[in-house]
Amino acid sequence: MKRICYFVFLAFMTANVWAEEVKIASPDGKVNVTVTDQGGIPTYMITYDGRVMLKPSRLGLKASIGDFTAGITIKGQKQSRIDQNYEMTRIKTSQVHYVATEAVIAMQNAQGWPLTVTFRVSNHDVAFRYTLHRGQNDTPRCALVYSEASAFNFPQHTTTFICPQSKPMDGWERTKPSYEEEYKADAAMDLPSQYGQGYTFPCLFHVGNDGWVLVSETGTGSNYVGCHLSDYQKDLGYTIAFPNQDEMNGMGSPYAGIPLPGSTPWRTITMGTTLKPIVETTIPYDLVEPLYQPTHKYKPGRYTWSWLIWQDESCNYDDQVQFVDLAATMGYEYCLVDALWDQRIGREGIEKLSRYACSKGVRLMLWYNSNGMWNDAPQSPVGCMNTSWAREREMKWMEENGIAGIKVDFFGGDKQEMMKLYEDILVDANRHGLQVIFHGCTLPRGWERMYPNYVASEAMLASENVYFTEHHARQEGFELCTYPFTRNAVGSADWGGVLMNTHMSRDNKSRHPRYTSNVFEMASALIMQSSINAVVLCPNNLSELQPFELDFLRELPTTWDETRFLDGYPTRYVALARRHGNKWYVGALNGTQEPISMTLDLPMFANQTITCLTDQPLKKSKKAQENSLQLPTPVQKQLKVPQDGKVQITIQPMGGIIIR
Ligand code: CA
Repeated sequence: MKRICYFVFLAFMTANVWAEEVKIASPDGKVNVTVTDQGGIPTYMITYDGRVMLKPSRLGLKASIGDFTAGITIKGQKQSRIDQNYEMTRIKTSQVHYVATEAVIAMQNAQGWPLTVTFRVSNHDVAFRYTLHRGQNDTPRCALVYSEASAFNFPQHTTTFICPQSKPMDGWERTKPSYEEEYKADAAMDLPSQYGQGYTFPCLFHVGNDGWVLVSETGTGSNYVGCHLSDYQKDLGYTIAFPNQDEMNGMGSPYAGIPLPGSTPWRTITMGTTLKPIVETTIPYDLVEPLYQPTHKYKPGRYTWSWLIWQDESCNYDDQVQFVDLAATMGYEYCLVDALWDQRIGREGIEKLSRYACSKGVRLMLWYNSNGMWNDAPQSPVGCMNTSWAREREMKWMEENGIAGIKVDFFGGDKQEMMKLYEDILVDANRHGLQVIFHGCTLPRGWERMYPNYVASEAMLASENVYFTEHHARQEGFELCTYPFTRNAVGSADWGGVLMNTHMSRDNKSRHPRYTSNVFEMASALIMQSSINAVVLCPNNLSELQPFELDFLRELPTTWDETRFLDGYPTRYVALARRHGNKWYVGALNGTQEPISMTLDLPMFANQTITCLTDQPLKKSKKAQENSLQLPTPVQKQLKVPQDGKVQITIQPMGGIIIR
């Protein structure tokens, strides 16, 4: 990291006659942050290109060492430039150049206790965190943080795309909160949250014609609680909220414990006049560092997964052989064996299955239940991931038997104790060469960089809901056109889709249908980012799909060197371009019932012939189409892109487009 200190300013001691004001500008000068201590209340405000993105919003926290929300004076500040390059292998881009202005602001509370607030301001992101210090006699050496006043006070004309935090110990087998709730589109700020528990990160705000803002946090592992946003409070806006005391069956503290001196995780605010900076942001990774080195070279890839369509009944040796064979046929790297394998296949059976898979060039990943005593989820194996001795025994067995990764499910809660469990699983898994996917879980907060064997999390309404209910099958377009701007913008997401069965059943005839087109499903694998991506093919699909569909699914990359936002609006449609090596892929989804036309700017394809996969429009009335079980036929055609790189496309209702 290169740090050039170009500006040092120490505030003149003014005996509090007037407020101190600190101004911080992004390297391009467009983002401006103003921090003040007016009236003893620390606040910040943000403008982007002269437009107010956040009105004066409170800073500060309450801790066991003192109250830092009032009686605050700014004592001084120091600004420097951060200029950092780093490489990533499993997010939306591979080379990151992070340039920011850092301001370290020294504050002091009414008792004279110091507090440092550090801001990092880059061209589209503002981040801040608090550092707490020891007092006189160099004590105490640790502290509890009880609450944060940190607020996000948006202009009045702002609307929201946010997802409610669920009640603790609620839902199926008391496994919530697990970030599996429904977003509302363009809702008013003062609409009470559905469960009275505020909103999960990330939270997307539409600041009218002035632009878009995404609020989240990063750098939270075992060092803090996972936070969320409160309900909207008049005059304050949204504030940082801590976990509910009742999470984890009431065990553990809802407060954060930190050593002194020690820092909180970063609060992040990503903004722009369009959605481009939000889709492309790397802020979750810019602010964290790898916490350990990988012990193995972790391989990205695709996995087959019987459970989504064939469900629990498929957890038997013979069905799993079919999905291993399917992975081998498709050239996929992995096959995920879901819950109940310990009872229905057994450990010896898994050893045999793993040997069979390895002989076909496929490696197994295994599902585990996280619990413990924090929920009632009955699926086994249980009791293998909640203690260090059990993990060690289990992971050693996995390593000896060629298992490549684990999917650990059913956590529930953001207390520090639970955040520590995620970290402990990751650290132990790394020792045994295991990559890790979490389900029924919290949002990852910079984890792809912090933990080199971390792959992705669920932390959204994932594909299982398309299977479970007709409602979610109909909502699939809405949800997949929301995540690129929210959940997947800040962390790899195990959507677990590319559902190629037309009906949510093993016979592919019974139960409810899929409402999205084949091309929508295939394009979703370009839209949703996870370095190990599920492709929910079933063996029957091999004879049902057209050869060019299977060709695309065989080719499907899962790692990206570059991601570009092309067009979109949350909940309605999205078009992204992603580069894998020298090859560009464009994916577009329409989540609505109307065709959507747009001109894509594709300079990377200028003067080239592209292959375009689209849906043949259905010749039916809209009403008939909405209730239709008939999906449009995918067609593949070649197109010559003009020199200006402009390509006119129309995406069919609940359809998609793939260009490569
Ligand atoms: Ca789930």
